[in-house]
Amino acid sequence: MVRVSAGNIRADALDPGHRFASMPLFTLGPNGERGMARRQCTAEYKIKPIKAEIRRRLGYQHPQRVPAGVVADIAIGISVDEICRARDADVGYMRNTFPLLDLGWRRGDCVAYLERHGLPGTPKSSCLGCPFHDDGFWATLQAGSPAEWADAVAFDAAIRHGSARANADGHPLRGQSFLHRQRVPLDQVRLRPKPAAADVDALGCGPWTCPHPSDTTSDSTTESKTGPASVREVA
Ligand code: SF4
Repeated sequence: MVRVSAGNIRADALDPGHRFASMPLFTLGPNGERGMARRQCTAEYKIKPIKAEIRRRLGYQHPQRVPAGVVADIAIGISVDEICRARDADVGYMRNTFPLLDLGWRRGDCVAYLERHGLPGTPKSSCLGCPFHDDGFWATLQAGSPAEWADAVAFDAAIRHGSARANADGHPLRGQSFLHRQRVPLDQVRLRPKPAAADVDALGCGPWTCPHPSDTTSDSTTESKTGPASVREVA
């Protein structure tokens, strides 16, 4: 197994010397405008390092052109429940395949398989401080992982006025940003987790399966690129 990384999004957000790839934070403008910051994190922290590794293995590192016919098969773990997230690769040197779709497996089949192989309770993948988490995730974290909960609460407080880099550059966020869609500090949110049975469709976040806001919330927020609630610090 090879693991690749583009760094630590939490550390980068709080480092005044580091460019921060925007997360889909919930924003509240000075006049109460509700918005959502652009999402650059999936591309920056997940897709980019994977593509770089694929290119390296094919022998054509950026910016070399990969010749036609030189292709890597990419097996992506999308199950039947989320078939709408399956799509072709956006570059010619990758060919996406979906083995779980070929097997006809739903999420429950994956969970049962993992349990049979000694991996019970495997969680969906995502960053700890992802704003797409639902109340079920936050409530479970609060009850079962107090240190991680405290970490998320501290991060939520630390990004209230935008990234450290933007503030250091004299471009503070007009308004505030939050991890939770209620747009109050995370430790003040009144969490309302759904019953477990109703929570099976909550989405995780993989390099090619990151949820879109419309997948995750009936909130009236939309991705806003302008206006008081937008995040402007990322070029
Ligand atoms: S899990 Fe959330 S914060 Fe992490 S890359 Fe995906 S959208 Fe961004």
